[in-house]
Amino acid sequence: MSDLEERVADIARKFAIKNAVDYGVARSDTVINKIFLELPSAKEIGMVNVRAIVDSVVGDINSMSKDELKKEYKMYTFLEQKQRVGLPDLGWADQNTHVNTRFAPNPSGYLHIGHAKIAILCDEYSKRYKGKFFVRFEDTDPKTKRPIVAAYQSIIDDLEWLGCDIGGVFKQSERLPIYYSFAERLLKDGNAYVCLCAKEEMQENRRAGRGCRCRDADPATNIANWKRMFTDFREGEASLRLKTDMSHPNTSIRDWIMFRIIDDEHPLTGKAYRVWPLYNFASAIDDHEMGINLIIRGKEHEINGLKQAYVYDYFGWELPHIMEVGILKVEGTLAHKSDIIRAIKSGELRGWDDPRAPTVAGFRSRSMSPEAIREYVVGSGIGKNDSYLDVKKLDSINRKYLASKEHRASDSR
Ligand SMILES: [Zn+2]
Repeated sequence: MSDLEERVADIARKFAIKNAVDYGVARSDTVINKIFLELPSAKEIGMVNVRAIVDSVVGDINSMSKDELKKEYKMYTFLEQKQRVGLPDLGWADQNTHVNTRFAPNPSGYLHIGHAKIAILCDEYSKRYKGKFFVRFEDTDPKTKRPIVAAYQSIIDDLEWLGCDIGGVFKQSERLPIYYSFAERLLKDGNAYVCLCAKEEMQENRRAGRGCRCRDADPATNIANWKRMFTDFREGEASLRLKTDMSHPNTSIRDWIMFRIIDDEHPLTGKAYRVWPLYNFASAIDDHEMGINLIIRGKEHEINGLKQAYVYDYFGWELPHIMEVGILKVEGTLAHKSDIIRAIKSGELRGWDDPRAPTVAGFRSRSMSPEAIREYVVGSGIGKNDSYLDVKKLDSINRKYLASKEHRASDSR
């Protein structure tokens, strides 16, 4: 049996049991309808195969005793009709498309439940379309988003605990030579320039939609100045900017900065580098280099997408598909990473894994099952509206998983 056929059989069993418990006997037609609601990709194995699988499962279920049925019924989770949204198929992909996704956390903190949502969605789609799910640490700002060394491993542990199938791990801080070589191509082609203007001057020009004198420098001058960014320019004296459109209605898109100098020591690479790429440049290069064709991200990244499109244009690359989803927020005084850091410092929380922290590590400490988190996220779908974590709902899903685990444990004794 293929993976998909096995999933169809699992879902068929679950709904055949329910059907038999509810009505005394399971019927194939009812079960088939449920399968296509829960797993639209079932159609890939063909209606004839789906029916054959369902008929065989239904036959088994109808030969079970009432007690056996009830016992197994308790092991499953059935969501309310309206909650069983699931994830829709991707309109642009078929069973031959390998959908590669990436989850790109900043290791300046542990994995927050809100970020876990994005990771789970990425992992779901990569699994469904037999692609790869990559983890990419965005750690190129040793000054304001200083990485925590322990966070790298804790994030991997949390993702694995959540059932994510990690196809590769990258750290951007180890990929600087790659970014430099792409930057040099842009410099040579006259699509980027080293700006030596003071910060205030740059801001003023940006507001006015005016290109500065550095913008007209020839590639040779720019390359010479770029080399000086690695040696004698000081922090704040020079930055590498991409030529976009100085009259773009959004001022932040006007010749955005690709690289700047930061002299702070990086926790992983120490003093090896001082010219650091900003998020948008490193992200665009990596998405292309890693063959990412589906980006799932929070709506707050919309402007970043516009910025990155210029990089894709210059290199003649095809843009990945983008799915913007609502942000999963948490209520309370510990909602944000900064709140958690403050609470850990003050001793209010004993650490990132304190059961009160809305981190994945925190959820692990309060005996949350990873299946419950996944089911909650998948059940919430891919709508664009932000939502608050419904703790009651998550707890109720979790109780069913805990019950079925206890059930299995007592069965095997
Ligand atoms: Zn300038």
